[in-house]
Amino acid sequence: MTVDAASHLAGHTSAIAPPAGPQDANRTTDVVIIGGGPAGLTAAYELLKRSDAYHPVVIESGAMVGGIARTENHNGYRFDIGGHRFFTKVKEVSAMWQEIIGDEFLTVARSSRIFYRGKFFAYPLKLFNALSNVGVYESIRIVVSYVRWRVRPHPIEDSFEEWVINRFGGRLYMHFFRSYTEKVWGIPAAQIRADWAAQRIRNLSLVKAVWNAISGANDTVSLIEEFRYPRLGPGQMWERCAALVEDRGGQIRMRTKAIVFHRAGMCVTSVDVIDSGGNVHSIPTQQVINSMALGELLPAFDPPPPAPVMEAAAKLKYRDFLIVTLVLARADPFPDNWIYVHSPDVKVGRIQNFRAWSADMVPDPGTASIGMEYFCQEGDELWTASAVDLRALATREIAALGLAQPGDVIDAAVIRQPKAYPVYDSEYKAALDVISGWIDELENFQTVGRNGLHRYNNQDHSMLSAMYAVRNILGESHDVWNVNVEQSYHEEIELEKTEPDQPKIEQLHANYTV
Ligand SMILES: Cc1cc2nc3c(=O)[nH]c(=O)nc-3n(C[C@H](O)[C@H](O)[C@H](O)COP(=O)(O)OP(=O)(O)OC[C@H]3O[C@@H](n4cnc5c(N)ncnc54)[C@H](O)[C@@H]3O)c2cc1C
Repeated sequence: MTVDAASHLAGHTSAIAPPAGPQDANRTTDVVIIGGGPAGLTAAYELLKRSDAYHPVVIESGAMVGGIARTENHNGYRFDIGGHRFFTKVKEVSAMWQEIIGDEFLTVARSSRIFYRGKFFAYPLKLFNALSNVGVYESIRIVVSYVRWRVRPHPIEDSFEEWVINRFGGRLYMHFFRSYTEKVWGIPAAQIRADWAAQRIRNLSLVKAVWNAISGANDTVSLIEEFRYPRLGPGQMWERCAALVEDRGGQIRMRTKAIVFHRAGMCVTSVDVIDSGGNVHSIPTQQVINSMALGELLPAFDPPPPAPVMEAAAKLKYRDFLIVTLVLARADPFPDNWIYVHSPDVKVGRIQNFRAWSADMVPDPGTASIGMEYFCQEGDELWTASAVDLRALATREIAALGLAQPGDVIDAAVIRQPKAYPVYDSEYKAALDVISGWIDELENFQTVGRNGLHRYNNQDHSMLSAMYAVRNILGESHDVWNVNVEQSYHEEIELEKTEPDQPKIEQLHANYTV
């Protein structure tokens, strides 16, 4: 998807003037925005909305806008890079979504299950379904283990494993957290920082979950039972946003990659970009909003940052992802939007049924479009497997799970997504402190979004950080590193009243997995 950076050696370098725009007399090319994902496009949209004195240029290395939240299309079958629910507590974000795609924004009832040890567990967990699936003996062991760990918890909660065991007990951790978490991250859960659990799982209580299951109480209303979804997938949101940006005089350069950030002291003076023809252009700029990954960004400064900052950048790690979309010759093999596959005997982590998200994702109602999601590492066996082998693997695994027959598969597409997840390991936090300290000293450069802040987030966080970066350019003063869509870091962030303050068990996997 990205332009080969090495190919710029064959091209030529030229400086380019600001592109013509509707109000050129009053404009300069003053804000270069790196990345045409939710963060970059929100920055451009917000800037053009709040001021007509700026002319943003968005640089996007891929062929599609939307970043990880894009929608791919294979022979008319549309699919996400993992299903993308739209939900947020932040009114400014939901207002922007509504503004962009209100007429095409569906409300979808969420339906999902967990597959584990050959059985489907209702999700949200239902007490009697869970008990009958694990059996009376195992249920007693779960309770005993829970009590044991509540009485004598791990004294220090450094790792994900310790954090979860202290709250749920060892048996429940083993059944419902360990195998899936290790699939997602590819490392033992004992090596994953507790920060990640604290950010993604937060205030869950087993006692409350059991009580809800017994009493039928459910205070997790609409946003958790339902989510919003553009009729043609998340990419539709970002394609429309891009069109609005261009309508208002912004520019979006596709298949163009930012490769060098020239600076004079702590001021970025220009950005070198390389287009798909291998030509390098230099864009002079007054401001930069970045959403590319920090690990790639810091080595791209010229002159480079001090050695400790470069060393910190090298410590940031990422987890990659690929989706094998199988087209089946029959409709809906299961009714759910998605199924979590905890069973360690198959590699697939989650399975999507895209028609359950929107009927218009599938062109032929007699067929199904099923996304088999695999967590991997660039260069590993899965990542480097051929499309033919990946189709064969996904076909074998969907059959092993009893969801389809191998003969049902009539077509397939593979999409690989590098840097899908910023990793929260034992080194990342200290590294991030060093990096943010240096970036904050830059006078005219801000970084936002998922990999731009190394934050395991949802779209709303990327968007909000971009909104604040724009306001900083317009004279306000916000700390984008501390934007938090769960707790208002600023009183002015209005949270939707319809969602409870803290996610409950129902949100557990939706939030904690991907
Ligand atoms: C499997 C999965 C499921 C998810 N599900 C949900 C969900 O249900 N709901 C939800 O809200 N969020 C979900 N997310 C998170 C969501 O995808 C991200 O929060 C969002 O896409 C982040 O937007 P961004 O703009 O910060 O980054 P990105 O989406 O990563 O966009 C960055 C853009 O920058 C471009 N770029 C990178 N380097 C360069 C360069 N050097 N030059 C030019 N361009 C460059 C990239 O090509 C990309 O387009 C999910 C993520 C994953 C991986």
